[in-house]
Amino acid sequence: MNTEPCVECGFVPELLDEDLTCAFCRLNLYLKDALMNMTVRFPVEIVTHGDIEIDLDVPEEFLDEDGELRDEDGLRDWLNDNEDEWYELVPAFEEIQSKEVIEIANAY
Ligand SMILES: [Zn+2]
Repeated sequence: MNTEPCVECGFVPELLDEDLTCAFCRLNLYLKDALMNMTVRFPVEIVTHGDIEIDLDVPEEFLDEDGELRDEDGLRDWLNDNEDEWYELVPAFEEIQSKEVIEIANAY
């Protein structure tokens, strides 16, 4: 009868494997490294940063007397409120910042 504890969980099982683990830990260790090839489908959220450069009619409220931009935050908010001015444009330069799995849609 075995009197040695499992090296993984400390439990003293009736039978200790030669790697000094109990049956439960041995199975978990086996499953941890086991792989099964599957087709996995999942939606991802991709965040990219890109540069857009366009000619557009900027409201004069954001400019000073010399016609220079003075209110960058105001113009930024205005651009976000007027997506139709630029939303469909493809940025000349684009870089992926992050990709994140939203959920698992299917796996088989
Ligand atoms: Zn164990």
